[in-house]
Amino acid sequence: METFRVLVVDDEVDFLETLVNRLRRRKLEAEGASSGEEALELMKGKPFDVVVLDIKMPGGLDGIETLREIRRIGPLTEVILLTGHASLETSIEGMKLGAFDYLLKPVKLEELMPKLAAAFEKKAAQEEKIRKVKIREMMRAPGETPENG
Ligand SMILES: [Mg+2]
Repeated sequence: METFRVLVVDDEVDFLETLVNRLRRRKLEAEGASSGEEALELMKGKPFDVVVLDIKMPGGLDGIETLREIRRIGPLTEVILLTGHASLETSIEGMKLGAFDYLLKPVKLEELMPKLAAAFEKKAAQEEKIRKVKIREMMRAPGETPENG
């Protein structure tokens, strides 16, 4: 599998560090953030392909607010939500806001890996479409419209 950039966002620091290390061992370029604010800062620096986002986080930005901002900063970045049974409702809200999928905690790496791959593939396909549209635009003679060209 081609490598891609993953950002894990979770307020449980032990879980966060363990997951980031496991993803790195699987040759992914993984980074961790323990709050929504930290995640958004990292996203502004270098874009991520996929964000794994804990829906239940205390303090300033909660999971849903962080999701909204992630979608705004990186519209092509795919988001996989991590949720407990108690926050399933919130995950459904997250799916409506454009999250790629969700996983129930505790998360098994065997479950996360295929979802990460699928999310990355979706992003790559989206980027390919955009690239093709741009090439078509470039090839068009000045003044030509898609209708008469
Ligand atoms: Mg949490």
